[in-house]
Amino acid sequence: MVTGSTSGIGLGVARALAADGADIMMNGFGDAAEIDALREGLAQEFSVRVAYDGADLMQPGQVAGIVKTTQSSFGSLDILVNNAGIQFVASIEEFPDEKWDAILALNLSAVFHAMKAAIPGMKANKWGRIINIASAHGLVASPNKIAYVAAKHGVVGATKVAALELANEGITVNAICPGWVLTPLVEQQLRDRADAAGTEVAIEAEKLLNEKQPMLKFTSPESVGSLAAYLCSDAAETITGSPISIDGGWVAQ
Ligand code: NAD
Repeated sequence: MVTGSTSGIGLGVARALAADGADIMMNGFGDAAEIDALREGLAQEFSVRVAYDGADLMQPGQVAGIVKTTQSSFGSLDILVNNAGIQFVASIEEFPDEKWDAILALNLSAVFHAMKAAIPGMKANKWGRIINIASAHGLVASPNKIAYVAAKHGVVGATKVAALELANEGITVNAICPGWVLTPLVEQQLRDRADAAGTEVAIEAEKLLNEKQPMLKFTSPESVGSLAAYLCSDAAETITGSPISIDGGWVAQ
């Protein structure tokens, strides 16, 4: 089950896991016909079963619901990738309360609710992989991203707690901490910046990389997917509780 897999990083992760033979429960918002085409395309390309559940993960009941649906659709939920996330950019004084609540609900609380719902089944099977998509902002801060940075630091902390509790249950729990990945989430920030500065998106993209990443290159959703697939492999069985950076050197500074 990959949350927020109708777009961006989640779709990259879903594709990488499907390529390794995993059946996939997709989730996320978008145009129904486009989602159905994605679902069918993935199933055909990789000869796996692909289902879709449009649960709104800001609602705890719907998080538990999609975990149950995944278990009943496929027999078990073995790999949980908590990826769905949103962003909002404003100073603390100007940050709308409802944006704080929404970001905390999706980017942090949904991770807790999904792990809570999925862990009993993984424990019963004595095998599981939980991958939480955090961010470089789970390790370091930037101004104007109070809710996102707080939530992503929380995800890294929650990942460590789960890893400790599950250390001898055959279940690993890790966080992937990407730097800039060119997805709709970042494209929106680039458009906002270009509008505010009266420049072009391409210019803002270059500035964005320059501000944070020694390596002036976006990470691809496919690369994040490959890292997730590696964390699901036997070779990664002792990697747990780790925030793993894939960020062009962002947090090395
Ligand atoms: P994206 O906007 O392309 O995708 C977000 C996905 O989440 C979409 O499928 C969307 O439909 C889904 N979603 C949004 N609200 C939802 C809700 N309430 N319930 C269920 N699904 C919902 O974004 P992305 O850049 O691919 O981000 C994916 C994750 O990666 C996020 O957690 C984000 O914080 C993290 N991340 C992104 C970057 C980056 O540079 N793009 C960097 C670090 C971390």
